Amino acid sequence: MSGSSPQALVPVTLRREGADQLIIEWSDGHRSVHAWKNLRRHCPCAGCREEREKPPDPFRILKPAELVPLAPVAMAPVGRYAYKITWSDGHDTGIFTLEHLRSLCECPECQKKG
Ligand SMILES: [Zn+2]
Repeated sequence: MSGSSPQALVPVTLRREGADQLIIEWSDGHRSVHAWKNLRRHCPCAGCREEREKPPDPFRILKPAELVPLAPVAMAPVGRYAYKITWSDGHDTGIFTLEHLRSLCECPECQKKG
C-alpha cells in the first residue's frame, strides 16, 4: 500500500438506516449519523447554493416533487474523495466530498464540538 497516507479518512461502511438516515462508519472508528434532509439542505451544487442565498419568496409555487418527502435513490462514489447523491426528484448534481460529509456529522459527539 504505497502512497496511502495514514491519516486519510475514508468511509468503511455506508448504509441507510430506516427511511431518513444515513450511517457512515469511518476508518478512524467514528460512526457518523446524517439525516438525508440535512444532507440535501447542505447540497453543495451551484443550483442549491443559489437557491439558499435567495430571499424566501412567499409567492413561490411548490413543484409536485417538493410536496412528497425527498428520498435518496442512489449514492455513488466519485473518484476516491467524494460521493454523489441522486434524489427522488431527479436532482443529482450535488457532490459531497468526504470532508464535507464528515463535517456534517450529526452524532452527539460532533454536535458538542459545534
Ligand atoms: Zn444541489
